[in-house]
Amino acid sequence: MDVTLLGSGDTTGTPTPRCDCDTCERSRELGVERTRFSVHVRNERTDESLLVDASPDFRYQFLEQDVALPDAIAISHIHFDHLDGLGNAYRLLDDVPVFAADETDPITEQSVAETVDDKYHYLSSITVEPRAPLEPFETCGFEVTFVPVEHPPLLCYGLAIEDPETGAKLSISGDSNYGISERSRDVLDDPDLLFVDGIVPANHAQYHPAGGDHPDRNGTFRTFGTKHMTIEGARALADDLSADEYRLVHLSHYIPAEDAFDDDMAVDGERFRL
Ligand SMILES: [Zn+2]
Ligand SMILES: [Zn+2]
Ligand SMILES: [Zn+2]
Repeated sequence: MDVTLLGSGDTTGTPTPRCDCDTCERSRELGVERTRFSVHVRNERTDESLLVDASPDFRYQFLEQDVALPDAIAISHIHFDHLDGLGNAYRLLDDVPVFAADETDPITEQSVAETVDDKYHYLSSITVEPRAPLEPFETCGFEVTFVPVEHPPLLCYGLAIEDPETGAKLSISGDSNYGISERSRDVLDDPDLLFVDGIVPANHAQYHPAGGDHPDRNGTFRTFGTKHMTIEGARALADDLSADEYRLVHLSHYIPAEDAFDDDMAVDGERFRL
């Protein structure tokens, strides 16, 4: 399993357009970027590629990184930064299945699969393939499972991606707070590599109207607001899941410049062989 992190940033990315904060300036100096989230997973055995999430930076990511166009796509949830690049399939991809969860979200009264189908009904090059959460399905020679996570108010899914031949396992938390259920943690558990949502340091909770949640025993918030993990929370989840290796993703430019490029904080283009 060949994993390329195409996009490691939050919804404004780093650098954020026209922002001159220390973190954005530092990223320009280092020549690194954090575009909107997407992961490319290639199966060398079958020479097929699965794309997790369709970033609005889709075109730029495939120009920047030396990876094949996807043979299949999986969508975690319907937020802009994970879905709105799907229109790039037009005249570029041919006959690509788009996998998404089939359970109805009480907020939208549609499943993720139905929302994707509604929004992109005009794209003849894709076919939406609804799948039940927690039930593994096969694509690109991988066994893939949508795992319910916590991103209120919308339904959102992490993913477990395993190669049944080699036993390689990639887990992705999806956009989530720290309060992921035991049932879902069991599916994400013990990966070779984990991509885990960590958006800001815990001390940023003071700036969120909802504050923080899921404090550890020192009172450090592992959830920022209600939708995402703090950096501390993401590291705690990597530890809880016994990940052999992990990278924090969905990182924002609010992380202080002196911490924002630590070794476990992903930048675009990082590659892993599992
Ligand atoms: Zn900035
Ligand atoms: Zn989201
Ligand atoms: Zn997001």
